[in-house]
Amino acid sequence: MRYSWRRLLIEALRGNRGWTPAWRDAAPASGYDIVIVGGGGHGLATAYYLARVHGLRRIAVVEKGWIGGGNVGRNTTIVRSNYLLDGNIPFYEWSMKLWEGLEQELNYNAMVSQRGVLNLFHSDAQRDAFARRGNAMRLHGVDAELLDAAALRRYAPYLNYDDARFPIKGGLLQRRGGTVRHDAVAWGYARAASTLGVDIIQNCEVTGIRVAGGAVAGLDTSRGFIATPRVGLACAGNSSRVAALVGLRLPIETHVLQAFVSEAVKPLIPGVVTFGAGHFYISQSDKGSLVFGGDIDGYNSYAQRGNLPTVEDVCEGGMALMPFLGRLRLLRSWGGQMDMSMDGSPIIDRTPVAGLYLNAGWCYGGFKATPASGWCFAHLLARDEPHAVATAYRLDRFSSGHLLDEKGQGPFPNRH
Ligand SMILES: Cc1cc2nc3c(=O)[nH]c(=O)nc-3n(C[C@H](O)[C@H](O)[C@H](O)COP(=O)(O)OP(=O)(O)OC[C@H]3O[C@@H](n4cnc5c(N)ncnc54)[C@H](O)[C@@H]3O)c2cc1C
Repeated sequence: MRYSWRRLLIEALRGNRGWTPAWRDAAPASGYDIVIVGGGGHGLATAYYLARVHGLRRIAVVEKGWIGGGNVGRNTTIVRSNYLLDGNIPFYEWSMKLWEGLEQELNYNAMVSQRGVLNLFHSDAQRDAFARRGNAMRLHGVDAELLDAAALRRYAPYLNYDDARFPIKGGLLQRRGGTVRHDAVAWGYARAASTLGVDIIQNCEVTGIRVAGGAVAGLDTSRGFIATPRVGLACAGNSSRVAALVGLRLPIETHVLQAFVSEAVKPLIPGVVTFGAGHFYISQSDKGSLVFGGDIDGYNSYAQRGNLPTVEDVCEGGMALMPFLGRLRLLRSWGGQMDMSMDGSPIIDRTPVAGLYLNAGWCYGGFKATPASGWCFAHLLARDEPHAVATAYRLDRFSSGHLLDEKGQGPFPNRH
């Protein structure tokens, strides 16, 4: 069923009895050409592009819970391509371009809202670092504007420029950045993939990966064995656990990241704002709630909830930047499992097991990458070669030393 104004009108007149399920809740078949493990944004996008771009048909996505129940439905919805390193910028910019056409592509309202992402700076050294990043972006054709204090005051008059705890000296602005409704991305890709014949199999946990003669032969799941010669792992925070099923030890640690939502208020913050003197980022949802977050909890965990010291730390960061936040009540918070890689950058690559491919290490920035990640992972799975914008995301960079340390933090997953 195609969604349109006409369809809305017809259904409204018919009492909304004609809507059909957005995707087929498939049962596992005995075998597929390709199986994607993980029904998050990356897994579903991969399946969609395998079918749409590469014309493959016998594809399944197996998800241990329900689609959208993982990080794709838990993040703070920020999308941007304001990176510094050559290995990252073209990839994230490709993702931004795919976001820009996503709703038409999927015929689904994912609420893509390019309301701008503003990174504040509070010192001369930080301004220089942001100028360098902005220049790197512009060299790659990505939009970036360095705002001085006067220009910033015009752009964001609601910030405290007079007696802030950490004086605001300017900001790096990417106007094309913004937010996208997170779970709608999962639903939109699921619907579009299902329409192209992809089986989306929920409540189906992968419990084993069978290998014969050094190559993948199939998957043991909670719903039986599925034969397949090609498997793509897109399990985000569970990547290391699933890879361990074939004895692979990944350069990844799993940590918790929390998100917070306030009560709804009138329009207050038009875009996304990040604090430069602490780890804090905030935007306002269409319903009026302020959506914000900060650092990971900082210890290894597979839990989907965090602890109070981080709640306090995030709220302190928020209050230092926007003291008015103290007048709002916090409505909800939750946690997600972050696959923190050793250099803070992702992996889209083959593994030493023939037929087994890996998409992981997104840390807490993988939502913005969803379209490009799916696009590039589908390319790798279909052609057995990396896509041009994802060549830096090799698994062996951790042994060869070709790290992609965007933040310059060294081999400490909890700092990226
Ligand atoms: C609080 C929070 C805030 C964030 N904010 C942002 C942000 O603002 N911008 C941004 O770019 N990124 C953000 N992120 C990161 C982003 O959400 C993730 O990097 C990204 O969603 C991960 O990819 P995914 O969508 O495929 O993951 P998921 O949705 O987690 O998908 C992985 C799926 O694999 C399934 N799975 C695991 N093991 C198995 C198994 N054995 N068998 C079958 N299925 C299995 C899981 O159930 C899960 O559904 C945030 C994350 C969190 C938690």
